Amino acid sequence: MPIILLNYSIAIHLDKPPVNMKKKSTYMLSSLIIIVLCMIIGFAALLISNNANKVLFKYHFKYAENQRIEQYFERVRATSILLDNLQYELNYTCDNQDIDTLEHASYFNAEIRRLSLRTPNGITCGDMVDTLNIYAKPKQEIYLNQQISLIANTSKDRTIIQYHRQILKGFITVDITPQDPISLLKNECDGCWLQTVEGNGIILYTGNANRAESKIFNSPLQLNKDLTDQVVKPILSMPLLDNAWIKYYVADNVIQHYRESIRPYLIILLCSLTLILLVLMHRRFHNGKMLTFLLIKALKQNRLIPFYQPIVNAETNHICGYEVLMRWETKKGKIIPPDVFIPEAELNGLIVPMTVQLIETVAKDIKRLEVQHSIAPLPHYFSINVSPDLIQSTALINVIKMTLNKFKLQPHNFSFELTERTPISDFDKAKNVCDSLNELGIQVKLDDVGNGYCDFLALQKLQASTIKIDKIFVKNICDHNGMVIIESIVAFADKAEVEVIAEGIENREQASALLRAGVKYQQGYYYGKPAPFDKIKFNLFE
Ligand code: C2E
Ligand code: CA
Ligand code: CA
Repeated sequence: MPIILLNYSIAIHLDKPPVNMKKKSTYMLSSLIIIVLCMIIGFAALLISNNANKVLFKYHFKYAENQRIEQYFERVRATSILLDNLQYELNYTCDNQDIDTLEHASYFNAEIRRLSLRTPNGITCGDMVDTLNIYAKPKQEIYLNQQISLIANTSKDRTIIQYHRQILKGFITVDITPQDPISLLKNECDGCWLQTVEGNGIILYTGNANRAESKIFNSPLQLNKDLTDQVVKPILSMPLLDNAWIKYYVADNVIQHYRESIRPYLIILLCSLTLILLVLMHRRFHNGKMLTFLLIKALKQNRLIPFYQPIVNAETNHICGYEVLMRWETKKGKIIPPDVFIPEAELNGLIVPMTVQLIETVAKDIKRLEVQHSIAPLPHYFSINVSPDLIQSTALINVIKMTLNKFKLQPHNFSFELTERTPISDFDKAKNVCDSLNELGIQVKLDDVGNGYCDFLALQKLQASTIKIDKIFVKNICDHNGMVIIESIVAFADKAEVEVIAEGIENREQASALLRAGVKYQQGYYYGKPAPFDKIKFNLFE
């Protein structure tokens, strides 16, 4: 079972992108550049393409219409509250006092255009003198629900929203004040749009002046009969309270007009975005270039220094080696962590001379330790991180051979940890280099197992002697799943006959749990933080 789980964890990590591949800010700048570029392409399409304009118009129009309809319903709600109070002020006889009350309500409330009352005796009165006439005219009516309907009093009248409500002792009908025509259609185009509302077998319509339908449909059609979606597709259809459909038909010149009206804004937007893009690209380029420039300077001035973190045999509590972790020490003595500059150094190739210089510094430090502690050869190993670029280059062999010769050191004093933030491009070359290192007696370790690129393929091909369990897994060791993953890796390592080192141990519980799981080589803040040469821990309890 552990092996199955291990395979599962490999599968997860095989296609995982390298998280630390680029410096965070560079990564963010690149993402921003892509986003701005996509926006520029999108807006340029709007500027050029008719179809893109049509799509934008539709969305814009739908948004505006939704808002307009919502405002109508808001007016209905406001009217309803008004009627709650009004019902106690009426005598329900249509006397002068009732008419005054109705006139007063209509006059002082913007949402009411007209209102009328029918008393229990069947008398009708309203805020207008000709109330009876207005409501006596034949009308077409679509019911949106029991209280709201849409009516057209005459063929030329606009569609009106009517609100009907039974109050204390009578029945009130309110014409809701129409909203302004939709702003997108408010341009001077004459007879170029038509709105229809369809429901319970009736079509009500409003267009702008001069028989809109004749302009849109090219010939004067009998609207109720011949207006079908086959003739001209509506540009917008949306439901009204699920009982009716509101549809809009517009002539081509409306879209053209819309296009012209947004063109200046689009041009301003495009210019601004292009400017932003240029600034971002300049910063992105400058960022990398600046960092490269400073790194070259740091390399020349030998400011890339090693920090050492002990790797401990947890069974005996003895330090068996150290991981060498690079730091950048500025002129003012500030220490810059590797995550800030290693990804860029890997991109621009500076990582190779940087590591070569580090190897020489470490060799000098080993020599100094031998003298300080009067032990030669020193039994410890110093594990240096190498990126795929260097593990694929025979330069590494030459450098390490020269260093061993020059400083009279033993091969066991060195080992290399292959960090895999970027994939190995040429496994054959890497294999040759690893074989030569093994022949020399220098161990190759695979770093961050489970958290990089195809580690197990690398393990198989490169014949690494050791795998390092990434600190992510150690962090979760107290969860059941975390422990299962560690056990799976240990079971795998046993079978593959490789050693295991766990990193990121921060407390005694993690240390003991790992030991119980069979991981005796451990590294982490619990045993010692990475430290410069003069603070190097030689014995764990010193
Ligand atoms: P890495 O090889 O995985 O190194 C272990 C990282 O874990 C180090 O971070 C170390 O300081 C940190 N660490 C160790 N113990 C603990 C712990 O108990 N808790 C926590 N939270 N962290 C712990 P650092 O020094 O910042 O190095 C980051 C990475 O930079 C390294 O990860 C390595 O991939 C890269 N790096 C460092 N030096 C070199 C170098 O000389 N060459 C190359 N190519 N990469 C390097
Ligand atoms: Ca490492
Ligand atoms: Ca790691």
